[in-house]
Amino acid sequence: MPMKVLVVDDTNTDRLLLKLHLSKLGYTTLEASNGQEAIDQFMEHSQDLDLILMDVQMPYINGFDAVRSIRKIQEQQNQEWLPVIFLSASAEDDDIEGAILAGGDDYLMKPISQKVLSAKMLAMQRIADMRRRLVDSNLALEHLASTDHLTDVANRRSFELMLDREMSFTRRYGVPMAFAMFDLDKFKVVNDTYGHDAGDAVLVEVSKRIKIALRDSDIIGRLGGEEFGIILHNVKEEDVFKVFDRYRSIVADHPVIHEGTVIPITASIGVAIYTGKREEKTALLKRADESLYEAKETGRNKVVYHP
Ligand code: GH3
Ligand code: MG
Ligand code: MG
Repeated sequence: MPMKVLVVDDTNTDRLLLKLHLSKLGYTTLEASNGQEAIDQFMEHSQDLDLILMDVQMPYINGFDAVRSIRKIQEQQNQEWLPVIFLSASAEDDDIEGAILAGGDDYLMKPISQKVLSAKMLAMQRIADMRRRLVDSNLALEHLASTDHLTDVANRRSFELMLDREMSFTRRYGVPMAFAMFDLDKFKVVNDTYGHDAGDAVLVEVSKRIKIALRDSDIIGRLGGEEFGIILHNVKEEDVFKVFDRYRSIVADHPVIHEGTVIPITASIGVAIYTGKREEKTALLKRADESLYEAKETGRNKVVYHP
């Protein structure tokens, strides 16, 4: 995709000349003949605009003020960086300093040399590419830091952060949430019988099944080993048991097939409901854990929930 450049200049011939240079260099252009038009064009095209060339001296709203407004909008809307190069006939140090302070990234002297313009455009494009790579790798890092590598569900750390958030949502709005500890039964036997790789495949398959069954607002995370946490956001208390029993059967009703081997599995689920009363997260976790313990003690492959 060619870069899209907004050319802002109140002098028609300057603007046309710039557009000609830019299209020769393979860029597409939008134009504005004053500061207000520049702001309007920016608002309309902020999604696919790559660079602004902004004249400084223009009547009413000059280039500095226009860029200040654009930067403010970008900040409010948390938008990506958009390079701005000012164009001016003035070579005063104060103007150059003012351009950068107003939010510009560079400053070009009029009359504009075609060679200098194309070099600056290239430099800006390089910085933009670098920034994009940085944003991408930050996203990838965030994903790595918050996701369980084996199952691709939330890891314990990020699950607990989401649990904190859900609890405060419940405290604030009084909508009950359910939290469950979900633990595979006799998983040690699965590993011992079929091998560790098969055990891993079971963990992947089970989390996939639950993920598919969850509503968008519900959350699953791997708390460790063969234990998962599940949050049901905004549930009716009378539905809680039914929902978790469905998850239990989603696991138990069909064995996992790994490399041709049929591996029967079941899970036990301990549930605690949170209605917003003063309670620490650890106490909620403990209640769910006690229910899980009871499920294990009383035969496994079951849901224990004490309303
Ligand atoms: P229970 O029904 O009481 O939960 O019995 P269990 O065997 O599932 O429980 P226990 O806590 O004794 O054993 C859990 C096993 O899970 C032991 C461990 O080797 C296995 N495990 C933990 N993490 C992983 C993993 O990432 N991959 C595999 N394959 N196994 C794991
Ligand atoms: Mg277990
Ligand atoms: Mg366990």
